Amino acid sequence: MTGQLKLDSYADTGVVVSVDLVNELVIAARGGQASDRGRVALPALARILTVDPPSVERLIEGDVPGFTALAHRLYDAFREAHAGNVDQVAGRLNALLAEHPAHPHLAKEDGRWRLHHHPADADLIPMWTAICSESLARMVGDGHVDRLGTCEDGACGRVFIDLSKNASRRFCSTRCQNRAKAAAFRNRKAAGSS
Ligand SMILES: [Zn+2]
Repeated sequence: MTGQLKLDSYADTGVVVSVDLVNELVIAARGGQASDRGRVALPALARILTVDPPSVERLIEGDVPGFTALAHRLYDAFREAHAGNVDQVAGRLNALLAEHPAHPHLAKEDGRWRLHHHPADADLIPMWTAICSESLARMVGDGHVDRLGTCEDGACGRVFIDLSKNASRRFCSTRCQNRAKAAAFRNRKAAGSS
């Protein structure tokens, strides 16, 4: 059955936000000054959370440290996945799930019942911790831990979800892939001419 899996189902909100949180608040933040991070992180967070406009409305600067901590913990799961440590990935996601469990319930919106995982006034950090960790945990539970990707370009290191047919994607973007190809070509040439 897994071969027939609809990979599109992993392009869900929790997965997309997990990847964005890691790339914006961990990877992109590496170069900046520590004192600048809060200032840069708030607009980045607002961009990431546009998938859920009520979250953007409630976002305040005081949420930045909590989201940054969450981003680092999600990144730890990606790093363990990249190293092939599936047990550690599961352990890290289980810890997040235990700290901030979801509370599924039906709520009426515009006359229609919809399944929500959190009350509308839930705090942002617990809510997004549950959404992100549950989405990644679902991938692991479905046997797709190898799709939690980390870019193999050493200068990049961004994370991504590998939706390729054979789970064979190695780079976050064609730009990184081309840069790595060019570097390998230069290395071969240099080795050949010496
Ligand atoms: Zn990359």
